[in-house]
Amino acid sequence: MNSEKYSLKICHLYPDTLNLYGDRGNILCMKKRMEWRGHEAQIYEVNIGENFNPYDYDIFFIGGGQDFEQSVLLNDLKNDDKRNAILRAVDEEKVFLTICGGYQLLGNYYKTWDGKQCDFLGAIDVHTIGEKKRMVGDFMFKLDDADGGHIVTGFENHSGKTYLGEGVKPLGYILSGHGNNGEDKTEGARYKNVYATYSHGPLLPKNPGLCDEILKVALKRKYGSVLLSQLDDTLELNAARFMENRLKKG
Ligand code: GLN
Repeated sequence: MNSEKYSLKICHLYPDTLNLYGDRGNILCMKKRMEWRGHEAQIYEVNIGENFNPYDYDIFFIGGGQDFEQSVLLNDLKNDDKRNAILRAVDEEKVFLTICGGYQLLGNYYKTWDGKQCDFLGAIDVHTIGEKKRMVGDFMFKLDDADGGHIVTGFENHSGKTYLGEGVKPLGYILSGHGNNGEDKTEGARYKNVYATYSHGPLLPKNPGLCDEILKVALKRKYGSVLLSQLDDTLELNAARFMENRLKKG
């Protein structure tokens, strides 16, 4: 039994602008899974017009948003201090979990289906091209073996088709649904300690294996090697299996 008490600081970037389908629940899930093991996590918020020090936090979270909210953020990202803090955090291997619009925001650019060019952060080498026909529905993918190989079930709703550049690996491979672009069977992106995905809403509550992978990476970066005790995930895993079977039947 590991008796050391761990503490993580989680920074929620743009909670007032990017938070579709209750994406914030993923932060609560990380906090809860720390606390259930006798550890702790503090949540901080950084909104439009606010700067932050990338070294103050262990995990960054960015949720999803519509094209409109993303375009509202373009101005804030022109603030060099803000932009550089995000780039520095990625570079320093801080852990990022970013969802849909937040995922696109870390990439090079997003060209919306109606032709609007959004130049984003370029923190990861991906780009997104919008199409009028949206990719919507429950979906399922398998994480890369390096990330535990878990099967993840989730919900996607995006018009953007994302393409990965060199040096960026997919978070996983599509078993059902669309994922990054509906073409190459990839879903999400992995780069340094960035986890980016199109999976909205209760991604981590529904997929505790992925939540623990992310916590372990953050803890390892902060404390060196760590052991996370086992939790009873019977209910979550039963729900996940139910969804898996439903999606397998098509
Ligand atoms: N605006 C983006 C798209 O439609 C992201 C949508 C979202 O975050 N759900 O591709």
